[in-house]
Amino acid sequence: MSPSKKSVKKYTKPSILKLGGPLYAKHGAASKNSVPVRTEIGRVPVAQLAAEFGSPLFVFVEDTIRANFRSYANVFKRLYPKTVFGWSYKTNYLKAVCAIFHEEGAIAEVVSDFEYEKARALGLPGDQIIFNGPYKPKNALQRAIKEKALIHIDSIDEIFEIENIANSLDLEARVGLRVNMNTGVYPQWSRFGLNFETGQALAAAKQLARSKAIKFEGLHCHIGTFMLSVEAYTIAAEKIASLFLEIERETGITLNYIDMGGGFPSKNHLKGVYQAPEVAVPSISEYASAITDTLKATFSDRELPTLILEAGRHLIDEAGFLITSVVSRKLLPDARRAYVLDAGVNLLYTSTWYRPTFELDGDEGSFLEPAVLFGPLCMNIDVVDSHLMLPPLRVGKRLILSPVGAYNVTQWMQFIQYSPAVVLVRKTGVVDVIRERENLAAVEGLERLPADLNQTEKSFQAQKIRKAS
Ligand SMILES: *Cc1c(COP(=O)(O)O)cnc(C)c1O
Repeated sequence: MSPSKKSVKKYTKPSILKLGGPLYAKHGAASKNSVPVRTEIGRVPVAQLAAEFGSPLFVFVEDTIRANFRSYANVFKRLYPKTVFGWSYKTNYLKAVCAIFHEEGAIAEVVSDFEYEKARALGLPGDQIIFNGPYKPKNALQRAIKEKALIHIDSIDEIFEIENIANSLDLEARVGLRVNMNTGVYPQWSRFGLNFETGQALAAAKQLARSKAIKFEGLHCHIGTFMLSVEAYTIAAEKIASLFLEIERETGITLNYIDMGGGFPSKNHLKGVYQAPEVAVPSISEYASAITDTLKATFSDRELPTLILEAGRHLIDEAGFLITSVVSRKLLPDARRAYVLDAGVNLLYTSTWYRPTFELDGDEGSFLEPAVLFGPLCMNIDVVDSHLMLPPLRVGKRLILSPVGAYNVTQWMQFIQYSPAVVLVRKTGVVDVIRERENLAAVEGLERLPADLNQTEKSFQAQKIRKAS
């Protein structure tokens, strides 16, 4: 009589583990004896995605993007109906991603000439673009002024430049002033815009208010990114609102908006924060209340200014996944297991600061051992993770990393590998390619080979023979 399959306990190799791990991990080291499993992304099987589009592969889920945007926008709208939402292009400027945010009602927040052109090429009118950033080339400013984009001043030099351009075009430039301030969070982002505490911002505002070539419309700040402090937004809102009133009082002009920037965290794990994101990351309602309560209190006896926001990572991070596969296995001299993956720091720029969640596309049992994950680059620093607990993995085993939707697809690096395809799982379950995997023609497209160096295979061969003889 053979025992039924169910009654036999699956054999797992016994393991003895040295008790280790960082002493500071008081919230518990890896105690779970299994690795999370994910077989689907947006209801599409991981195996199907990898089979159809290859590995590595970035996968975005349209439903998550829209749901994230709607819940965030609803929270602010309910508290402060006069809110305008900008989408931070640099967080992820794939056309399909930007188009979804624009469809949801967001305008564009761009920080460079390139991003400005991208927004216009996507069909967004100039007057729905906020042009930020420390370097806006002259031709870009010319275009932005003509197209009535809202330009946020980063320096005094930029004020003079915009005045000159606007005068030469005989146009009025639409301008806001970026202000930086101490919000109690360090390091302070004091390199962007003009400083509040020193009075630089007020002086610049007076200069803007006097200018005939400039229509001075509002104030802007963006105090940092992945800001875990809600209090910092209260302080920023207090300071910028008081400056707003002071400018109006002292210059007699009327301003109409306050742009509080972005910086709201996603549910990612910032390295050095030992609590899980679910515990460490405040809800968006807390940020919204901090900002809108402050504005409502400051402007209680007058018309409220428009509130502009420019969130990036909070809206897109959780919608992005990276599928990667084990390409080989090693045993390191210190007895740790190591795996080489087909995705490395070339695709995970943000892994310097954030630790994504690693999931397997199937259950590999509960025998866990310390493992190191290397990427495919010929660089010693290409370490995707150095202290994971993983079951033994075969070559070809797939891992799914998330959240990786913010900044990776814009900051990825072109180095010895082709960038992978990026796909979008649509509401309908259909999967659309939104960026093809790179190929030689795409990567070499801008290279030019001087004619005298343009050798055929035959002439390379001839040279080799000449040298050898
Ligand atoms: C990058 C950036 C944002 C978006 O920042 P997140 O932290 O991704 O929300 C908004 N405004 C400005 C000026 C930025 O540079």
